[in-house]
Amino acid sequence: GEESSLTVGVRVRPLNHREENDSLVFNVVYVAANEVQVTCDAGTGTTHRFSYDHCFSSDPLSPSYASQATIFNALVQPLIDKAFQGYNACLFAYGQTGSGKSYSMMGHDTDCVNGTMSYDAGIIPRFCHEVFERISSSDNSRVTITAEISYFEIYNEKIHDLLATTGTSGGTSASDPNGRRPPLKVREHPQDGPYVVDLSVHGVESFSDIQGWLAVGNGQRATAATGMNEKSSRSHSIFSVILTQTHPHGDVELSRRSKINLVDLAGSERVSQTCASGDRLREGVSINRSLLTLGKVIAALAENAGGRRRGFVPYRDSVLTWLLRMVSGIL
Ligand code: ADP
Ligand code: MG
Repeated sequence: GEESSLTVGVRVRPLNHREENDSLVFNVVYVAANEVQVTCDAGTGTTHRFSYDHCFSSDPLSPSYASQATIFNALVQPLIDKAFQGYNACLFAYGQTGSGKSYSMMGHDTDCVNGTMSYDAGIIPRFCHEVFERISSSDNSRVTITAEISYFEIYNEKIHDLLATTGTSGGTSASDPNGRRPPLKVREHPQDGPYVVDLSVHGVESFSDIQGWLAVGNGQRATAATGMNEKSSRSHSIFSVILTQTHPHGDVELSRRSKINLVDLAGSERVSQTCASGDRLREGVSINRSLLTLGKVIAALAENAGGRRRGFVPYRDSVLTWLLRMVSGIL
C-alpha cells in the first residue's frame, strides 16, 4: 500500500510451448486490476480471487498486460527513489521453477540502444541503467554519487562469489572438485551488521561497466550449473548495488550509503518436496531452510508491524535471511 514498506506484485507467466500445444491445458488464471482470479472448476464456475498491490498479466490482449518495462516502472522505480533518498531496499522474485523469476530479474539480455533498454531486459539491467541515468542527470554538483556492486549465490547454505577475480583464472587451483572456489563465510560486524567475508565488491562508473560484470556473473552461474542438474532452480542469487552519496558539510564530508538487494530465489517447489537421499536431500533441506526462514521472517515482521508486540524474528536460521538483515533494516 501507499504507506506500507512492503509491496507485493504478482506476475502471471504465459503458457509455455508444451502447454500451448496440449489441448487438455487451458488457462484458468485471469488478472483483473489488483486481483488474480483462478477458476478451479469451469463447470461450476468456482472462482477464487486473490488481491495484491500489483497484478500483471502476460496476455498482450489483457488490459493488465505487463512488459518488462511495465514491471520496472511499477515495482522498481519506487525502490530507486528510496535508494537515492538513502534507504535500503530489497526485491525478491519468488515462485516455482519455470514461473519467470529469472526472466523478470535478469531477462534475456542487458542491451541498451540510444538510451532504451531492449524489450526483454529484466529488472537488474534496467535498475542499473536507471541508476546511472540519475547520477549523470543529477543537478546537485555538490553531491558526489558512487556505485559499487556485488553478485553472489547461495547454494546448500554456502555462498559463492559470482564476480571473484582473485585466484588463478578459471579458479582451478583454489577450487573444490566441482570447480568452485571455497565458499565464503558470513560474519557479524558490530556496527554494519552481517556481511560476507572476502566477497568482491566492484566500483562501477557506467552502465557498460555493469554490463561487463553481469556477463561475468551470469556466465559463472551458467558454468557452475553444468554437471549439477538444474542447479539454478536450487540456488538463490543476490545482486547488490551500494550507492554512496557524499557532500561537503563545513570542514567535513558527510556520506550516506544505501544498499539495494535484487534477489532471484530458488524454486519454491522445493519447500514442500521431499528428496530421497544424499546430495539431493541436503539440497532440499537447505533450500527449505532459506526459503522457509524467509517466509517466517516476513511473517514475523508483518506481525511486529502490527505494533502490539515484538515477536522473535528468526533471521539467523538461514544464510539468506541472516545476510539480508542489515542493521539499518532491509528485512
Ligand atoms: P524461473 O527462473 O522462475 O525458473 P524463467 O525465468 O527461467 O523461470 O522462465 C522460464 C521460461 O519462461 C523462460 O524461457 C522465460 O523466458 C519464459 N518466461 C517466463 N516469464 C515470461 C514472461 N512474462 N514473458 C515471456 N516469457 C517468459
Ligand atoms: Mg531461474
